[in-house]
Amino acid sequence: MPNHWQDVLWLLLQQAKGEGKKVCGKKSGGPLKLKDTTWHKPSSLQELLDTLAGLPEGVKYTLVCGNTAQAVYEGGPYSEYIYTGNIPELSAVRLETDGLVFGANVSITRLMEQLFLAAKSLGGFAYVSHLAETWKHLGNTSLRNLGSWGGNIATKVIHPDFTSDIFVGLVTAGATITTVGPDGSSDTHTLEELMEVDLVGQRRVILQLSLPPLPDNVFVRTIKVRPRTSTALADVSAGFKVRVDAAAAHTVVDSPVIVYNGINPSFIRATAAEAALAGKSLEDEAVVQAALSALATEVVPAIKPGETSPEYRLSLTQTLLYKMVLGVLGDSASSAVVSGADELVRPVSSGQQTFPENPEAWPVGKPVTKLEAPIQCSGEAEYVTKIPAHPGELHGVFVTSTQANARLVSIDTTDALAIPGVMGFVGAEDIRGQNNMLAFAADWTPGSSQPVFASERVEYHGQPIGLLVATTKNAAQAGLAAVKVTYDDIQPPVVTIEEALTKPLPPNPFPPVVIGDVAAGFAASTHIIEGTMQRGGQLHYQLETQITIVNPTDNGFEVHSSTQWASETQRAIAQVLDVPDNQVHVSVKRLGGGFGGKIDQCNIVSTATALAAQKMRRPVRVQLELSDNMRIVGGRESYLCSYKVGFDDAGKLQAVQAVLTSNSGYRGVDVSTPSAVAAMPSCYDCPNWELTPQFVVTNTPVTTWCRTPGTVEGICYMENIMDHVAVELGLDPLELRQKNLLPDGGRRRLGKQIIQLRSRMAGCNVKDLPDEVTIPRNLISDMITQLLTSADVEKRKADVEQFNKDNLWKKRGLTVMPMLWPHSVPPVYPFSVMVSVNARDGSVSISHGGAEMGQGLNTKVAQVAAYELGISMDIINFVPNNTHTNPNSSSTSGSLGSDTCSHSVGEACKILRARLDAYKQEAGLLDASWQEVVLSAFNAGVDISQRYVNGNGETQGYGVFGVACSEVELDVLTGQYMILRTDILEDAGRSLSPLVDIGQIEGGFVMGQGLLSLEKIEFDATTGKNLTDSVWTYHTPMALDIPVDIRVTLLQDAPNPVGVQSSKVTSEPPVCLAYSMVMALRQAVTSARQDAGTTGWFQMDAPLTYEKLQQLCLVDASRLTLA
Ligand SMILES: Cc1cc2nc3c(=O)[nH]c(=O)nc-3n(C[C@H](O)[C@H](O)[C@H](O)COP(=O)(O)OP(=O)(O)OC[C@H]3O[C@@H](n4cnc5c(N)ncnc54)[C@H](O)[C@@H]3O)c2cc1C
Repeated sequence: MPNHWQDVLWLLLQQAKGEGKKVCGKKSGGPLKLKDTTWHKPSSLQELLDTLAGLPEGVKYTLVCGNTAQAVYEGGPYSEYIYTGNIPELSAVRLETDGLVFGANVSITRLMEQLFLAAKSLGGFAYVSHLAETWKHLGNTSLRNLGSWGGNIATKVIHPDFTSDIFVGLVTAGATITTVGPDGSSDTHTLEELMEVDLVGQRRVILQLSLPPLPDNVFVRTIKVRPRTSTALADVSAGFKVRVDAAAAHTVVDSPVIVYNGINPSFIRATAAEAALAGKSLEDEAVVQAALSALATEVVPAIKPGETSPEYRLSLTQTLLYKMVLGVLGDSASSAVVSGADELVRPVSSGQQTFPENPEAWPVGKPVTKLEAPIQCSGEAEYVTKIPAHPGELHGVFVTSTQANARLVSIDTTDALAIPGVMGFVGAEDIRGQNNMLAFAADWTPGSSQPVFASERVEYHGQPIGLLVATTKNAAQAGLAAVKVTYDDIQPPVVTIEEALTKPLPPNPFPPVVIGDVAAGFAASTHIIEGTMQRGGQLHYQLETQITIVNPTDNGFEVHSSTQWASETQRAIAQVLDVPDNQVHVSVKRLGGGFGGKIDQCNIVSTATALAAQKMRRPVRVQLELSDNMRIVGGRESYLCSYKVGFDDAGKLQAVQAVLTSNSGYRGVDVSTPSAVAAMPSCYDCPNWELTPQFVVTNTPVTTWCRTPGTVEGICYMENIMDHVAVELGLDPLELRQKNLLPDGGRRRLGKQIIQLRSRMAGCNVKDLPDEVTIPRNLISDMITQLLTSADVEKRKADVEQFNKDNLWKKRGLTVMPMLWPHSVPPVYPFSVMVSVNARDGSVSISHGGAEMGQGLNTKVAQVAAYELGISMDIINFVPNNTHTNPNSSSTSGSLGSDTCSHSVGEACKILRARLDAYKQEAGLLDASWQEVVLSAFNAGVDISQRYVNGNGETQGYGVFGVACSEVELDVLTGQYMILRTDILEDAGRSLSPLVDIGQIEGGFVMGQGLLSLEKIEFDATTGKNLTDSVWTYHTPMALDIPVDIRVTLLQDAPNPVGVQSSKVTSEPPVCLAYSMVMALRQAVTSARQDAGTTGWFQMDAPLTYEKLQQLCLVDASRLTLA
């Protein structure tokens, strides 16, 4: 956090405590001098102006109202902060003769509320509700509550590239802004004039805005196209003001206003397009086309690396103008095109959760609230970051490479070390053991390794080359800026799979899955199709970024790490530090999200932190900033799948041949293609398969596991193939799928490779695994039937067809996707657990080797323990996992943690229960309470605690079935879409904890939605830099992006004979079901393409951003007609 932020937070804290006046002294809040900054708190406009006038020449100051703009443009550090929140003149809201007036401090929420009121009640102001309507897409509710319109406009003036929504609205409306100088002189400006004012240099204050009344025949419309629904700045926002004479063929009476933001670094008034419309009839096609052509000439969008393309933004200027015209014309335009006028309006979100009760086994299967939910919601849940600083603790920040493919020549830290507070630099030369942060994880891709710090060559932009440690994080950051790194032999980076495929491939230890004979299958096929599908990666975006604290003690190193695999972190640190494992004590209470990104890549931080602690002999803490997390740590692999498929006239698959290539980053470490090929058959039957997994290396971070790695790719590619086959034969996609379902008793190769690989990571080589497993019943068939009824699919499909016939510019799609998710369980995958009963009160403490990371592991474990011990869940508590009590545990991943820990704890409890039952009998305590029995047993010398480690073959793999139906609506003109409804029917066996499972299913679906639609990663082709390493450029789904209506049902009467307490896992499979949304979008896009005169197969590569969808719909200015 930069220096000045601490001051800002301090001030806010004081205000929150109501201590502002006391601290600031007099009524006026005299200046408060802090170390490097002075805070002023004027309570009148005059005081503010006096304060500004009194500032020394050249001083760096800022006004502070809501203080939210810091998150957009960091600015600072400033020496003078002037808080304006107490100035009554800046909070005015009044109606004057020439307009509605709002003081600069009025929050955006209040401004909107007042505009909605004025639109209803004041003549001449009906139009202002349109402005406020668009501002509903500005930031989010809390931002609008805190941020002022004045701060927004000042930010636009200071940073013209800011795509301010307020600015667009105010220019369009013809608002004026009054500013006041430090001498009290006031000026009134149009918004365009204001952009020319040097607000900061002249120390001018924005006082107020005035919105004029407009005649009823003036049409005002603002539209914002943004990369996701909320909390995103506009790709393009547009404002239109036209005065029309409706009776005269909607003739534009005077010169209209057309303004766009997001096109170039400031804003544009489309004067040529304005001229093309002035005095002309909007009902005349030629006029509209002339305006669109004018835009094509006068709009020259700037290139914005990592953001949307200039082509898309130019196209949006045209389609938004067209939307405006359609809006003005209303019924005067043809009914076919009228759907282009409106934006998508999201109804209030809703959800339904349905699950079988199964009360006979409660508390197993009881719908309980996740144990940590209350403290997570209240913010009381303690994560590593909350561990108080140890005395003398240092903070570390990574020195990272600014080249992606170069030789490291020198690292000069002289200037950095001279900065007060900077204590040292740790680099590769300080490593006493191996410069390799992978321990057991290296066994996945045999022979792989990953350096803690680059030593000879740097292989990606952002690669750690050392750690700078200082007494504060700010000092470390300051030191960072002074480190000089030099490189030579700078080579162009390879950043895409396509480029990497043109170079020699790394050795590939992963064999293909071969079943039958694909050559024979192709020979027997009457149709053969080929295709490729790309899918971008997905960054790890946990709420808790990577963090480790290492405290060197007299018997080793005490480590608090946000790791999904404590034993891996323990071994990796020991290996790097060259100390025995028993000197590394890793403890994990809970993680603020893991999703696979903290299985081994957490060691980037943990090993570097430990090295620093070893060298400095002081406690060291490293927590990555979010953008560093996005730059330094890899996420999910991007993928390329090329396929060839043979099938007969009826659509029965005869042969599937595919090569699945993943981008592993600069080393092949966590390669998921073996999982992808194992999962690819999903619920389908085909006699001949040849599925080849491979990977490429590129100059990007090592990619890593990410919720259902490989599986989601395999399953989605298969669905893509099924869609391709359906299009080729003109068959209904669901009918085609139903024809190819695996029959009951069908044989499947359920991830033998995965089982072997996972076992290797658990330190054990498993041979003699069967080649195939039998799927006793493919539940999918029945599940499809159930969902068709519960989701009313046939009726809704017919409605969708009709909707698509009736509308040119809005399209819908509704599809059903089945899934068989292979749960591949290695025979040996130990989790060691400890169940201790406290003799005095009978309460139970559990410590298990799993990582509770929000997935509800502890809740499931507590339910199983309570059931097996016959006690209430209320008397069970958890002790953080650590490498002493729970040694040699496996990684909490692959949906294995909750299950296996529940199993192991259950087994420990059974042993304990049996022992206590025997004692009860022996002691004649048959009617005694639990508390009485345990105390008596303890007093009698009975051991009332129990360890357990699951042994060979105790848990088994199986298939998880799921069906999803999604319905979408697409705005063809912008590519924006909404998931209207998603129904999911999932087989959770006899769910261990239905509410936890449903939470996982809903969350998993939304994570898949992000992967397949919103989350786009882009590396600069020249420098290799991640261009999407910030919250402004990388877009995960938010609350208003999820399905409007989401209904989750857990399958009834489906006990899993081999599952823990008859259950099935739920955390990963639903991610794959998000592909139902892609299938539905395909239907919507297909309809739009048909309208454009194009039929047949087209590829939909993910992520399907709005831009990509709009382009796939073949929107072209010549098609923007009125008939
Ligand atoms: C998460 C997030 C999402 C956002 N999304 C959007 C979005 O979608 N669309 C959009 O348009 N904006 C968006 N913003 C920007 C947001 O609207 C502005 O940050 C906010 O309106 C600024 O108001 P404030 O009161 O917090 O200003 P502050 O942060 O307090 O001040 C901002 C700047 O304005 C100056 N200033 C403040 N008051 C005055 C005054 N009276 N006279 C002269 N200068 C003054 C300050 O000196 C400072 O430079 C977003 C911001 C965040 C943090």
